[in-house]
Amino acid sequence: MSGTTATATEILARLVAFDTTSHKTNIPCARFVQEYLASHAIDSRLLPSDDGIHASLFATVGPQADGGIGLSGHMDVVPVTGQSWDTDPFTLTERDGRLYGRGTCDMKGYLACVLAMVPEFKSRRLKMPIHIVFSYDEEVGCTGVKPMIAEMGRTLPKPTLILVGEPTTMTVVDAHKGGYRFLTEITGKDAHSSKPQLGVGSIMIAGALIAELARIEQRLKAKHTSPRFDPPYNSITVSMIEGGIAHNIIPPKCTFQWGVRTLPGLDGLEIMRELDAYAARELLPGMRAVAPQCDIVTKNIGILPAFTTASNAEATSLALKLMGQNETFAVPYGTEASHFQAAGCSSVICGPGDIAQAHQPNEFVEISELDTCMGYLRRLADWAEAA
Ligand SMILES: [Zn+2]
Repeated sequence: MSGTTATATEILARLVAFDTTSHKTNIPCARFVQEYLASHAIDSRLLPSDDGIHASLFATVGPQADGGIGLSGHMDVVPVTGQSWDTDPFTLTERDGRLYGRGTCDMKGYLACVLAMVPEFKSRRLKMPIHIVFSYDEEVGCTGVKPMIAEMGRTLPKPTLILVGEPTTMTVVDAHKGGYRFLTEITGKDAHSSKPQLGVGSIMIAGALIAELARIEQRLKAKHTSPRFDPPYNSITVSMIEGGIAHNIIPPKCTFQWGVRTLPGLDGLEIMRELDAYAARELLPGMRAVAPQCDIVTKNIGILPAFTTASNAEATSLALKLMGQNETFAVPYGTEASHFQAAGCSSVICGPGDIAQAHQPNEFVEISELDTCMGYLRRLADWAEAA
């Protein structure tokens, strides 16, 4: 392990020790980063969330100006609830060349590499700024990064290029699927289950809607595929369902959450409209004949657009050059790259760790990958100095 990778490992141990599960505060973690940067004479700004329990962090090394490169990552991690770990998930543990702990792969490993490189970035005569762009709430729909992006070009400098460090085993990723999340609420009518003719069972209605979603997914699979993605089709998942009062009551309320993972080119809201049309045509007339207040309402509760770039995109070319690679990949999971891209920053994804370990018990990152990431960031400094 090189000297700077040892520094990255020490920083990673500190970052992992903050339990930044998305619904908890990340402010102590953000403050730690802020103090670390201050110890290297780098000012940073915290952008608090409306409820004050989260904050993003933005800092600039080199010229205090628009342009340059943004190194983007998120400070939050997914819960360890219900997972069985061999080690304490919030204590970084080294074993056989791997560093275990929640967030080591997704994606505090990248944050640690970026922070460990700060003294080197500072020592260079950078011709363009290198911005540190750390967000929160990525794991619950990228909600933290959007307000920060809105400030870029206003109260914050706007980077030209964004290097997102989500885990790609340091390969260059220039496309990912989109994610659309929905909540469907069914209002039926309660009745004693011995008098079903007086009620409308909301859970049975949910069943019909879910069966329709399965049919829509089959149609989507048959209609459009893209071999760059695994799986190569648009997919629909029903992830949570809630309803019912007692075994002998026709249930008046049922809600379920579902989502669409979209290939570039599909607007996930179309699927919601298709489900609405099915409900209006096949289900609501019968429900309202029993009780006029019956209803089926689907709301969109989150959109992460699919991420695509032109084949000669600036950020992609730079990442390929820094990594000495000539092939790009597409991934099925979402990242903040699509929001940066939508805001006009050329973006690319390349970071240490394998997505196979993300969100899993015994999450780890290989120390060799942190080494590779340090090399990538060092060559970025070379490039920003020579540009
Ligand atoms: Zn992530």
